[in-house]
Amino acid sequence: MKAMRLEDGELHIRDVPVPEPGPEEALVRITSAGVCHSDLHLARGDWAGVPRTGRIGHEAIGVVTALGPGAERLVNAGDRVILGLGGAGGGYWCGACEYCLSGRPRHCARGKGILGTFAEQFAVWAPSLVTLPDSVSDDEASLACGGLTAYGAVKKLLRHQVLPGRPVAVIGAAGGLGHYAVQLATEFGYEVIGVDVGKERLDFVRSLGARLAVDAADAREVVQQETGGVDAALVFSSRIAGFNLGFGLLRPGGLFVAVGLPPTSDGPFSINPFEFFVKDATLVYSAVGTVQDMRELVALAAAGKVESHVSRRAKLSELPSVFDDLEAGRYLGRALLTDLAS
Ligand SMILES: [Zn+2]
Ligand SMILES: [Zn+2]
Repeated sequence: MKAMRLEDGELHIRDVPVPEPGPEEALVRITSAGVCHSDLHLARGDWAGVPRTGRIGHEAIGVVTALGPGAERLVNAGDRVILGLGGAGGGYWCGACEYCLSGRPRHCARGKGILGTFAEQFAVWAPSLVTLPDSVSDDEASLACGGLTAYGAVKKLLRHQVLPGRPVAVIGAAGGLGHYAVQLATEFGYEVIGVDVGKERLDFVRSLGARLAVDAADAREVVQQETGGVDAALVFSSRIAGFNLGFGLLRPGGLFVAVGLPPTSDGPFSINPFEFFVKDATLVYSAVGTVQDMRELVALAAAGKVESHVSRRAKLSELPSVFDDLEAGRYLGRALLTDLAS
């Protein structure tokens, strides 16, 4: 079968053996795979210390074609499934440690991620799969990481007592993750202020239901004028400038939810302690979610409450040009690989 491999930062399609599903694993024929900004960061070597060689891709929808021993209690051959936990988790978690039992399997010491969905077939740990109703199409592959991560971030609002009706800024609102967050936070009743750059992207943010869409350059002034500062900022930007902007938009006592992972070369996200004292903010990080979150998200998609915006459908061999477009900010929402065999 064909599979994309990252070799010293270069992409190569390789012919590799079809994986054999191990205990509690299912073999999935990939029908649609999302291209996440994390894949691009990996290929470009943006994160110091993270290798630029190996499998790549971590969002997908597919059909179960074979089962390893024990997987039959979880899925059936022929089921349409979405990989349930994004990149940071989903390959395995122990289910018994402090982190697993408190709903944070991403931190499980024995946990494994999902990596390698840019391939015709992929063997995945079956407890991380969520079966899909027919009403959720293959276009929704990016719910697997982008959607789940956005949903996890929006759920942090309630956990930190930011109530529906309050103003919430989404930084990077037209992107792969932000476009989900705008829809979900609006659906949950928040007054969403979407921040992005350029008219086309802001028009798109408005079309998703945001109360306001504002260019990053004008955001501080507009947000101050309209709200006196937001109750929360969800920062999906992959630049430190977006982090600084998100912190700057908060009203005193606000909630800062970091989601994007800027390149190491962007330097640290730093806060002057006196500004921290004045702002009295709560800072949290949010990555992916749980399998239960994925089930809830699939139900929201089936009910038409959230929808993936697909800017491009490409073949496996076109991944390098998809990366170039993604890097240049040419996509609204997501790009998908829908033909993994050529
Ligand atoms: Zn991702
Ligand atoms: Zn564990």
